[in-house]
Amino acid sequence: MNIVVGVKVVPDTAAQVRVEDGKVTWGEAPLVLNPWDEFAVEAALQAKEKFGGQVTVISMGDEAALEALRRALAMGCQQAIRIYDEPLAQADVLATAQVLSAAIRKLNPDLVIFGRQAIDGDTASTPAAVAQVLGWPFVGLVTAFRGFDEGSKTLEVVRTLDEAKQTLRVPLPAVLTIAKEFAEPRYPSFIGIRKASRAKIPVWNLAELGLEVHPPRVTWPEVMQPPQREVVCQFIEGETPREIARKLVDKLIEEKVL
Ligand SMILES: Cc1cc2nc3c(=O)[nH]c(=O)nc-3n(C[C@H](O)[C@H](O)[C@H](O)COP(=O)(O)OP(=O)(O)OC[C@H]3O[C@@H](n4cnc5c(N)ncnc54)[C@H](O)[C@@H]3O)c2cc1C
Repeated sequence: MNIVVGVKVVPDTAAQVRVEDGKVTWGEAPLVLNPWDEFAVEAALQAKEKFGGQVTVISMGDEAALEALRRALAMGCQQAIRIYDEPLAQADVLATAQVLSAAIRKLNPDLVIFGRQAIDGDTASTPAAVAQVLGWPFVGLVTAFRGFDEGSKTLEVVRTLDEAKQTLRVPLPAVLTIAKEFAEPRYPSFIGIRKASRAKIPVWNLAELGLEVHPPRVTWPEVMQPPQREVVCQFIEGETPREIARKLVDKLIEEKVL
């Protein structure tokens, strides 16, 4: 099974993201593989181990994307490709999906896997948009692979919902996103890290993909820091828990919270 996994580089979860001079910045905080994408890489590697084939990891982005690609290689992906060109610096979701879809077509996979969302952009819409552009089926929040029928080229997957488990049969090629219940992502091995650090990662540009990308239809004319909220902390004291609870209830009624 030929598998493509899409990943994005994001600021570390501990980064203090703020707006400076109208631009988003996270200071010196490191960039990492989007945490949800670790589950996608794990699922892609497990699909390869179960059904055979190879895993190619792709990312559209500037050189910072190499961090995410190398991490995925270190985890065990066989090949990485970065997609970048000058006009893509301001790409909106539609442009991102068109570019990723063109790269995916070129790679001709059976299965495309993404994380459920990026922790910075947070739209959770790129994978569904890619499926739409490709005209392929889409299943979100997959938690297990049940089996693969070689004859009908159908993959059986499970989704774990709040109150139930759902089993679905998806004809391939298809696009999936992976939920964290799938499995704990593996740590890269020392050999994996060394191999990944030396890997040559090709860059595909728009000409190579035979694409012209329109300017973003959704634009970001202004980015602002949310107004600072003033928080006053008041400790409620009393002789007994009952007295403290009574004072708290009186206070909540006075403030019209209750
Ligand atoms: C410098 C900059 C300028 C931008 N300007 C604009 C703008 O003008 N208008 C606008 O609408 N948006 C803009 N964006 C946002 C950009 O369009 C989104 O970040 C992008 O479409 C992906 O959406 P998301 O981050 O919400 O990812 P999600 O949809 O939440 O991600 C879901 C899955 O898709 C994968 N994925 C997302 N992006 C990629 C990628 N590039 N390569 C491979 N896999 C990917 C993720 O890794 C994850 O697995 C800008 C972003 C940047 C960094």
